[in-house]
Amino acid sequence: MRDRSDRYHLESRLIHGKMVNRHWNYQDHIVPPISASSAYRLESSQRGAEGFVEFANPEFNDDERPPIYIYDRLDEPSRGMLEDNLAVAEGGESCVTFATGMAAISAALGVLVKVGDTVASHRNIYGCTYSLFVNWFPRLGIEVVFGDFTDLEQLDAVLAAHPTVKVVYGETPSNPNLELLDLEAIAARVEAINRERPPERRIFTLVDNTFATPFCQRPLTHGIDVVVHSLTKGIGGFGTDMGGAVIAPKLLEPDLLLYRKDFGGALAPKAAWPALVHGLPTLALRTRRQMDTALEVATYLESHPAIDRVLFPGLDSFPQAELARRQMRDFDGEFAPGSVVYFRLAGSPEAARTEGQRLMDSLATDALTVTLAVSLGQIRTLVEHPASMTHAPLPVERQLEAGIDPGGIRLAIGIERASDIIADLERALDATSAAAVRHDAERCSIGHAVTAMS
Ligand SMILES: *Cc1c(COP(=O)(O)O)cnc(C)c1O
Repeated sequence: MRDRSDRYHLESRLIHGKMVNRHWNYQDHIVPPISASSAYRLESSQRGAEGFVEFANPEFNDDERPPIYIYDRLDEPSRGMLEDNLAVAEGGESCVTFATGMAAISAALGVLVKVGDTVASHRNIYGCTYSLFVNWFPRLGIEVVFGDFTDLEQLDAVLAAHPTVKVVYGETPSNPNLELLDLEAIAARVEAINRERPPERRIFTLVDNTFATPFCQRPLTHGIDVVVHSLTKGIGGFGTDMGGAVIAPKLLEPDLLLYRKDFGGALAPKAAWPALVHGLPTLALRTRRQMDTALEVATYLESHPAIDRVLFPGLDSFPQAELARRQMRDFDGEFAPGSVVYFRLAGSPEAARTEGQRLMDSLATDALTVTLAVSLGQIRTLVEHPASMTHAPLPVERQLEAGIDPGGIRLAIGIERASDIIADLERALDATSAAAVRHDAERCSIGHAVTAMS
């Protein structure tokens, strides 16, 4: 049988995978079993020798040829099938998976930069990626320079000032406050510089597409070179397992496989299986529901007096609404603004931080459909308040300097009924603003504040 899966719509392909699968011959299974073998039987020493020659060797890097399995850390069938499907979802040539999103990010950068090179990063990125850049890369002799790449002139200035830049790095939408990067414009600028450079000095563009998921945005189709994902979030979708993936041009695949072989950090087949069997096949279904709900919830939040600002790429008030509509498109080309909403509580920085903390505590004790927890992209709605959680040790002034909004709240929408999520938020917001008014009234004895805020 010939593999004709490319005749089908992406949404169906993520459910079925390939018609002919080189990774395993599951004649009778509809669902691939979870593979669980750390080592593989080799029928002869000759076959073993071939396996080692063929591993990560572009000469044998051919889709029709069944791999020779040797050892789980090198290659493995459940993971291989997931990698095929992730490459299809992102429109990429190859995918290599890792144990976590951070393992994928460090591997992607690990194959692209070495001592003396520079990474140019958008300043607003996931906390552990920032920590990797400022705490670990300097020890390896890799410099990281930050800029606000929503402003393309800043990107130009960073690239002009640092000829050693080998990677331009960013997230879009970014964590937590949903800044967007114009991927096509960034890719075009880097491409113009690369035209003047020999291939070994070319700059690669690398985008963490975790917040959008491939359903809402495919950076490779906008000219970006490499995409990384935390599979722990929207792709895994059910919050049961961790994982990461790098989707890259075929020319980087051998190094990514060798990096994974030697640094470890391979995705366990027992963790690849849920993403393959439950996560990717339901990605489109879950994300459509989450996006509809996110728009409803964001619209509700915009109307609430205790809230100063709501950021959601699907709202007309979104500062980069035009870019969102241009860049965030689902498999059918429909606008796909994602499932994360960010909002800021009203009041002075100190008051907003206290309010945020109260809102979290109120949701944690009274709400069923909104759970106080980090992470995102799950079937459950999760909420967190960076200023009183991850960044609580910093005083308010330092939080402001570090770009942490004291009243900023990240709401990662799940698949519950929108009306239940809104009702839970309303109870908590009413409880907190009433509590704030009582608090103000007690402290300042301003009786009219009660009527003004109720
Ligand atoms: C969670 C996350 C990561 C890290 O992924 P892990 O699977 O937790 O290692 C990286 N980038 C973004 C945007 C994330 O949300």
